[in-house]
Amino acid sequence: MSLQEYARKRDFRKTPEPEPGKPVKSGKDSGRFFIQRHNATRLHYDFRLEIDGALKSWAVPKGPSLDPSVKHLAAMVEDHPLDYGDFEGNIPKGNYGAGSVMLWDRGTFELEGEASAMEQIAKGDLKFTLHGEKLQGSFVLVHMKNRGKGNEWLIIKHRDDFVQPGWDIENYAYSVKTGRTQEEIASDLPAHRQPAAVKNAAAKKKLHA
Ligand code: MN
Repeated sequence: MSLQEYARKRDFRKTPEPEPGKPVKSGKDSGRFFIQRHNATRLHYDFRLEIDGALKSWAVPKGPSLDPSVKHLAAMVEDHPLDYGDFEGNIPKGNYGAGSVMLWDRGTFELEGEASAMEQIAKGDLKFTLHGEKLQGSFVLVHMKNRGKGNEWLIIKHRDDFVQPGWDIENYAYSVKTGRTQEEIASDLPAHRQPAAVKNAAAKKKLHA
C-alpha cells in the first residue's frame, strides 16, 4: 500500500481533499466501495474499493454499467486514502484534478472466489459483488495487460438479478451524500433536505399506493 503518489500530486494547503492519515487495516474479503463523479478536464467516474487499508482506484471515463453487454475502460490510478471515500466538493483551479467531485455511490463489496484481492489484482481478474445505493450485483475488473501504459482494465457486469439492459448512468447523476447535481456542487449550493434517492423512492411508493 502506498499513498506516496497521492500525496506527491497534491498540496493539502490548497485542496480540500483529505491528507493521508495513518493506514487502517481493513477486512480481507470485504470492505467499502465508493464511486465519485468527477468533472475535471474530462468528466469521469472514480471507482474505489477498500483493499488492504487503502482505496484501490480506477478512473472510468464512461462509468460502470448494469448492462452486461457493455465493457467500459477503467484506468488504474494511484491508491487513495480511506478518508477520501466520502469526499465531495470542489478541487480549486490549479490543483491536481481541479473540478467538482460528487459522491455518486457508496456501499460495501464482497470479494468473489478464494484468492485475496491483491492476488486477484496481480492476476488481472478481480471479481466482486457490490451492495451500493445505485449499483448492486456481481462485476469483474479485467486487466488488459499488453495495452496502453499497462494500467488499462475493463469493468463488466456479470449476468445476475441486478442486470438492466440499456441502463443509462446519466439518469442517476445526483449525489448519494447530499442529493446535489454536479452543477449544484460546483456552485457550492447546500445539500438538499432529502437526497434524490429518498425522493425517488417516496415518489415510487406514492405511484404504487
Ligand atoms: Mn478523478
